[in-house]
Amino acid sequence: MRILVVEDEPAMAESLSWGLEQDGYVVDVAATGEEGLWLAGETAPDVIILDVMLPGLNGYQVCERLRRQQVWTPILMLTAMDDDLDQTEGLDIGADDYLTKPFSYPVLLARLRALTRRGMRERPAVLTAAGLTLDPGSRTAARGDAELDLTGREVAVLEYLLRNQGRVVSKTELLDHCWDAAYDGGPAVVEVLVHRLRRKIDPASGPATILTVRGEGYLVRDETP
Ligand code: CA
Repeated sequence: MRILVVEDEPAMAESLSWGLEQDGYVVDVAATGEEGLWLAGETAPDVIILDVMLPGLNGYQVCERLRRQQVWTPILMLTAMDDDLDQTEGLDIGADDYLTKPFSYPVLLARLRALTRRGMRERPAVLTAAGLTLDPGSRTAARGDAELDLTGREVAVLEYLLRNQGRVVSKTELLDHCWDAAYDGGPAVVEVLVHRLRRKIDPASGPATILTVRGEGYLVRDETP
């Protein structure tokens, strides 16, 4: 496994790469966003650890550019508690997960393993389900030829459900993946959002795209043959 660490603080970059190398990973380190973008192309890493606060291009901008270039390497973003940037921004622009500093090394390792287990296979440029399409690069969704007017959070939830077609996704899981880690509201906010999303994505008559599995969560059926 090859990991690209994009981190400008030398002590942090050094301890991360030392630890990861002890665990058998091959590690490349970039100290700026620009260098990270370049190395992502040069070294074809299996996963990228991307700090948000970087000089020059910040982590969000690096992530967005990679996704726009159709680079789908899993990205774990590192954020600081006092970042004034909204953490969900990371997911909205295509990061796979994020971890708030300070974090424990075993937690980082577990997240990395989860990300690499999800697979290196190239993600489809466009996600589809039942006449619905979602382009993760441009963050737009459409029903047939008609573009849908969705908020960033609605796109994030729909994208997560589409990426997990055929599997029941719990409200807690959606909260974990589509809301700020500091968000302390309950699952009711997920229900409200899914309700609104359904009205936007489904035709007035016809089957619902997002099914409710009572007591468990939501399901988008996998119709790929
Ligand atoms: Ca930093």
